[in-house]
Amino acid sequence: MDFSFAKSSLIRFRASANSFLSQYEPVILLLAPLLTLLVARVLQSFLDAVREKGFKQTFVAFFMSSIKLVPGVNKYIEAEKQKVVDKMQSGVKSKREGWWTELPRAGLGVGVIEKLKEEKGKDVVWQGKCSGTVYIGGSEAEGHFSLINEACSMFAHTNPLHLDIFQSVARFEAEVIAMTAALLGNKEKASGGQVCGNMTSGGTESILLAVKSSRDYMRNKRGITRPEMIIPVSAHSAYDKAAQYFNIKLWRVPVDKEFRADVKAIKKYINRNTVLIVGSAPGFPHGIIDPIQELGELALSHGMCLHVDLCLGGFVLPFAKKLGYPIPPFDFSVQGVTSISVDVHKYGLAPKGTSVVLYRNREIRKHQFVAVTEWSGGLYVSPTVAGSRPGGLIAGAWAALMSLGQEGYLENTKAIMEVSESIQKGLVLFPMFLPPLF
Ligand SMILES: *Cc1c(COP(=O)(O)O)cnc(C)c1O
Repeated sequence: MDFSFAKSSLIRFRASANSFLSQYEPVILLLAPLLTLLVARVLQSFLDAVREKGFKQTFVAFFMSSIKLVPGVNKYIEAEKQKVVDKMQSGVKSKREGWWTELPRAGLGVGVIEKLKEEKGKDVVWQGKCSGTVYIGGSEAEGHFSLINEACSMFAHTNPLHLDIFQSVARFEAEVIAMTAALLGNKEKASGGQVCGNMTSGGTESILLAVKSSRDYMRNKRGITRPEMIIPVSAHSAYDKAAQYFNIKLWRVPVDKEFRADVKAIKKYINRNTVLIVGSAPGFPHGIIDPIQELGELALSHGMCLHVDLCLGGFVLPFAKKLGYPIPPFDFSVQGVTSISVDVHKYGLAPKGTSVVLYRNREIRKHQFVAVTEWSGGLYVSPTVAGSRPGGLIAGAWAALMSLGQEGYLENTKAIMEVSESIQKGLVLFPMFLPPLF
């Protein structure tokens, strides 16, 4: 056989390979196999992860972590984080020119209104289309806002800390709570019909109070002095705040493949110091409803508290259910739910600074109150974090509930559900956007 052809090709190949390789530094030649190994390793772990977690989730995790490997990206993320922190600490310095830093010598009188208008003109025009900021849009927004404004201003100079003087506001608060409780299962037999609560300044305060009350209730009931709570990673950061403020050890537990609270995983963290577990309906990050029924069973079986975060869903889910959407149980009709937070200032369409915290019964709520009997200023009893409280906002919330009524909220919920359906449909057309969002 004649191998000369093969031999000469081989020689030619070697020559061209040599000239090809000679263009590169020896270092690169050394690194190339190492890099190949690295790529193989990454590929291997990617495939392992796919086997374990499914493709979609792995791909997202992989994409997010590899994006950080791109030179500069990590630095960029850090810089952005720092920017937010700096902004909070100092305001925007460059924009501070011409700011008032001392009282004007002569007051501006009514001229101040002009100044207010001028500044308002500089705000970003959001027109109800900026998710998570203010929760009403469309043509009704204007009429609704001016109605609420009138209600607020009428009671702007009241203070519900002094209930004996401002009986109107005391009644508004009681009615807002009763109406909200009625939406959330208080009328159903399973709830016990004893639901009570208070108005607060927002979801965060409602959550803080529910956590504090649960902690003290469990100390009273079980003698727990080193409290711990367990929350899904999707629960709002207000629980971190509560854990820090009230010295509670916090466990954040991964969610399941559907991004719902993983009841089995939560169970693993329960010990005799656990005072509270949390479910959201829905959670802020993904808009997904946690399995409240299962969480309720878990809480009951361990005799601990369960807080349901309805900050976002409180004025949507009850109406969505009435409209016939398949909504799983989420309120006091679920045994084991001990407290609920509901933001009237989100889909309750009340003015900013209004929320409701509800408890299954007075036995739990009593741990929310602070009563000081030995103060030189006299007997001081305060239900929430604030001392003096804004009666105008309570009147504003009452006005929102009463002016919209069941039909108003049904209509609003219908619009929300329809938009959410059309977004879902849109995403199915562009599945590459699905993983990060759902
Ligand atoms: C908005 C929100 C909160 C916090 O409420 P704030 O009113 O912003 O303090 C907590 N949990 C959920 C689910 C929310 O949507």
